[in-house]
Amino acid sequence: MTGLYIVMYHYVRPIADSKYPGIKGLELTLFEKQIQFFNDNFSVVTMEQVVDAACRGIELPENALLLTFDDGYIDHYQYVFPILQKYSMQGSFFVPSAVVKYGKVLDVNKIHFILACSKIEELMPKVMSMLNEYRDSGYNIESNKVLFDNLAVANRWDCKEVIFVKRLLQGYLEEDVRNEMVSRLFEDIVGESEKEFSEKLYLNKEQITEMKNAGMYFGLHGEEHYWLNKLPIEKMMKDIDNSMAFFDEILDKDNLVINYPYGGYNNAVLDYAKKIGCKLGLGVEPGVANVKIGNAYALPRFDTNDFPPKSDRYMEYSNDNKLN
Ligand SMILES: [Zn+2]
Repeated sequence: MTGLYIVMYHYVRPIADSKYPGIKGLELTLFEKQIQFFNDNFSVVTMEQVVDAACRGIELPENALLLTFDDGYIDHYQYVFPILQKYSMQGSFFVPSAVVKYGKVLDVNKIHFILACSKIEELMPKVMSMLNEYRDSGYNIESNKVLFDNLAVANRWDCKEVIFVKRLLQGYLEEDVRNEMVSRLFEDIVGESEKEFSEKLYLNKEQITEMKNAGMYFGLHGEEHYWLNKLPIEKMMKDIDNSMAFFDEILDKDNLVINYPYGGYNNAVLDYAKKIGCKLGLGVEPGVANVKIGNAYALPRFDTNDFPPKSDRYMEYSNDNKLN
């Protein structure tokens, strides 16, 4: 078998000295240390090599490792790209097309900055009173206690209150209510204009083209960054089609890869990914990917925090892991 460590990154920036020191991401100095560690201990491979392994059975080198960067942050151009070039490594980038197409900020990112700019003890009462308000004005929303009991479960990175806010606002409530709640909280707590914030947060098409021309890989991450497995099938297909169409010149159709937002996939999503010609699909469960023919549409990925200098957690997963 061909084992592969896939590493997932989101924000990579100088965080401590920034305007948003509370944002959850990787400090730039630690990123370069991590890249140095990979350079010393792993063989960083290209996405094209992984597709070859999955489609043609071509073996990957020992300790193969793939670098993936989600969500189209400008960090990936400003900070990541120069470091990858310095080490002659390829990064694979997955940009939800809506962030480049429209000058808006995805709800998932607004939620990150709402959380970064407020104490959770202060945010919780605001969220709870908004829920009461929408419930009183006729929306069918369960009681705050039932919502909290159902949604508040701590995970590897966040306490239960943070998970509650994320799950509630990223998908649990009806779309119109949660969009409105997120916008109100963003305005109240972050207080920046959405258009200017969007320009400072995301890659633009020129930057993407420059990175692509320098050998970086770009794949699919949907249009609106939906949980694809929770959408009606038509809407799921449309979301993927829109992102394909928008990045037509950037995507490599012979080596097409889909990265499911939030790791959300089901059989319908997998079938559609195969139908449109995807060769691989990436999830978010940690584990060593077993890349072989017929087993490439739900590859596990480690988080950057699973590797030095943050931790040694990747070592808890053996090369024989069959999670995928
Ligand atoms: Zn994403």
